Amino acid sequence: METLDQPVQNNDNPYAACYNCGEKQGAPVGMTWWGGILGPKMMKHVKCGACGTKYNGNTGRSNNGKIAVYVVVTTVIAVGVAIAIAQM
Ligand SMILES: [Zn+2]
Repeated sequence: METLDQPVQNNDNPYAACYNCGEKQGAPVGMTWWGGILGPKMMKHVKCGACGTKYNGNTGRSNNGKIAVYVVVTTVIAVGVAIAIAQM
């Protein structure tokens, strides 16, 4: 049987390790050009304190794919709203 009373994590940083350098120094990104204030929060976007890479604080992987989807979706919505307003 495995003992379950061991500490799971000693590191007090709640974010995953950086995929680029392996350091666990992620800090939340407050605001970005692509997502404003909401985008980085939704994607747990953090910045590595060691190498400056930005990544997903949950998975420790790059957020670039999700950011691309986010930008496309928000652009489509913005264009849709602009067209709707123009037709009023
Ligand atoms: Zn790093």
